[in-house]
Amino acid sequence: MIRKILDAIGLEKQSKYVRDYFYATNMKASIYMSVIVIMLEIWMIIHMTRTIINEHIQHLFWNIADKYYSNYLILLCIALLMLLFAIRYFKGSNRTRWLCLLIIPMAAAVCVFEIWQLSKYDPAQVQASYFANYIILLIAGIITITLAVLLMTGKNDKKWQSLATMYLFSFICINFGIMISTNSYAKGEQILTFLTMELFVVCLLTWRPVTGFMILTVSYWVFMFRLDNLVAYNTGTVGITESTQINGFTMWISTLMFCISNYYKTRSQALKDENLEKINSYLSRISVEDELTGIHNMVYFRNEAEKMLNYVTTDKENIVFLFLDIENFKSYNEKYGFHKGNELLIEFAHCISESFKGSLVSRFSDDHFVVLTRFDGCKDVINSLSEHIHDMQGEVQLTLKCGAYRPNSTETDPSLACDRARFACNSIKKHFDRTFRMYDQSLEDKFQLKHYIVNKIDNAIAKGYIKVYYQPVVSTKNGCICGLEALARWHDPNYGILPPGAFIEILEEYRQIHKLDRCIVEQVCKDYRRAIDSKMPFVPVSLNISRLDFELCDIVGFLNETADKYRVPKRFLDIEITESALTDQQDFLQNAMNVLHSSGYNIWLDDFGSGYSSLNVLKDFQFDVMKIDMKFLSGFKSNDKTKPILENIVQLTKQLNMVSLTEGVESVEQFEFLKSIGCDRAQGYLFSKPLPEEELRAKIENGELSISPEFIPAA
Ligand code: C2E
Ligand code: MG
Ligand code: MG
Repeated sequence: MIRKILDAIGLEKQSKYVRDYFYATNMKASIYMSVIVIMLEIWMIIHMTRTIINEHIQHLFWNIADKYYSNYLILLCIALLMLLFAIRYFKGSNRTRWLCLLIIPMAAAVCVFEIWQLSKYDPAQVQASYFANYIILLIAGIITITLAVLLMTGKNDKKWQSLATMYLFSFICINFGIMISTNSYAKGEQILTFLTMELFVVCLLTWRPVTGFMILTVSYWVFMFRLDNLVAYNTGTVGITESTQINGFTMWISTLMFCISNYYKTRSQALKDENLEKINSYLSRISVEDELTGIHNMVYFRNEAEKMLNYVTTDKENIVFLFLDIENFKSYNEKYGFHKGNELLIEFAHCISESFKGSLVSRFSDDHFVVLTRFDGCKDVINSLSEHIHDMQGEVQLTLKCGAYRPNSTETDPSLACDRARFACNSIKKHFDRTFRMYDQSLEDKFQLKHYIVNKIDNAIAKGYIKVYYQPVVSTKNGCICGLEALARWHDPNYGILPPGAFIEILEEYRQIHKLDRCIVEQVCKDYRRAIDSKMPFVPVSLNISRLDFELCDIVGFLNETADKYRVPKRFLDIEITESALTDQQDFLQNAMNVLHSSGYNIWLDDFGSGYSSLNVLKDFQFDVMKIDMKFLSGFKSNDKTKPILENIVQLTKQLNMVSLTEGVESVEQFEFLKSIGCDRAQGYLFSKPLPEEELRAKIENGELSISPEFIPAA
């Protein structure tokens, strides 16, 4: 309620923007007003000087006083002053201040003149209102001189000085209007000067309604009061008539209405502009700021880094791109929740900014940050940040990893530099003793290969560089092949034969893995069809399917379509899903596996025991075959615990109705042991390395390997 009342009378709290808007509006109006007044006053002074010189030379001073000479002069001074303030406000320069050298002597002349008037003032001859006017002009003269001196000597824009000039100007204008018009009215003339001055002050300038009300009310009252006195003095009896009073009241109310409406119009425009300004500044802020942490984002980083790489020439060899990663942050989020995770990111982001003050710091994504800074001393800063992250970690082990890349003098692409620093950072992931890695030639070779793989995968598939190698799986019962694992090889014209270790992870990182997996599925189905059509034996093939395939394409649909196209029975295709893919349990994987099962495929759990949550995986998902990771066999001879562990795992598979298969069998001894503990199948170099189909068939033909009888077609 109170707010509404305050709002109605214009006493509401204004934002800085609105205040500045009003100030600027008034400064603009000041220019028009002052220019008009300056011209008018100069004209009046010239005109009057001519009249005085021509007609009343013998009573010079008296006539000057009579003709309001000093009123014109003071108005001219203040108008000039106001113009100078407005120019300084809009141009931001103080170059015109020497004009004060004109104002100061003129205002001083007014002061001297008024002092002279006051000294010879005789109440019997001159009315009290003239006396008041002398004092007003004297004070106005002193203030004008003070403001002019301040303007001349001060450097910066002092708002209060220009506002004081504006108030003084308004006051003197109205005072002038009252003096002239009351005298004119008493002589039977119009009161146009007063009206003009009122309109000038309250309509050209914008006042809060309450201030406008005060100015108008006081000025009208003084005007009426002086008019009444003057008329009574002249006529010797009565003052102004009732109709003059009513006319005055009408004038007062209409100028007041104009003043208020002017205020609300300006205010509404100011509020509109303020909103626009806010939206604009918000938009420009979020375009360069990271929403969560408030530090810069990558758009800003790339722009600024590009400028630096392109235009900075001195000390360029000393700059370094750093890529920072908080390792294990995912676990922190899981333990403490996203909210706490975000808090940690915000705090750490500001900590990086503080530590690298004056450098370019941005959030790259998630828990990754990039910095462009000087190489000297950057390792020390990283070490202290690493300590800081330990202090923040709580019960989850957080470690800081940092990759650094120093661009050479001809490099201009910040994205590539960030990529390299990131690559260096990724290369020390899971190396618990390392925090910092400099990008070097060995990383450069790997980096080039990585880019090669990502850029060439489509071409490699189209040109047939991706080939399927088959590795036999044998039955422990008869030592015959009962299955084959399809393993990809990239026969590259530049790099030679690339093993999956060189490209699987990269294709997963760049979400291209489904292309490769679909290519392998298609080749295996083709091989099946060719073998069957040529009356050759064919055993079930297990296919390695990435967890990402379920996200990146409809892998189940593709399997079904391809199997149908080449008329491959589903029992000839097994699906291997590696244990590590199943650690973060997601519903969609459960669903996908159910669909695979119901479509008729067997699902194998690959690399059992390689991760941390192997047993959970068994609990939550349904598998037909368990492939026991080859690491269990690695300490077969030296480690006494290997055998009982393997025995127990095999027992477990039996309890869970799964077929057991051990990978990485390299010796007869290992194979004999597996047989003895009841492991159903084995796979490893003991039987064969992964080979192309023809080579494998050659081995079968020369008797090195044999196929389980159930898969040999009847003659
Ligand atoms: P995996 O599925 O566990 O495949 C077994 C890996 O162990 C193969 O390596 C194989 O050559 C190797 N291996 C087999 N027997 C022995 C042995 O006795 N001793 C030793 N030291 N190693 C043995 P490879 O072919 O390099 O494949 C590596 C991994 O790449 C595979 O592990 C699989 O996860 C992945 N992979 C291979 N091909 C594909 C594919 O087409 N798609 C997907 N998504 N992943 C694939
Ligand atoms: Mg496998
Ligand atoms: Mg495996």
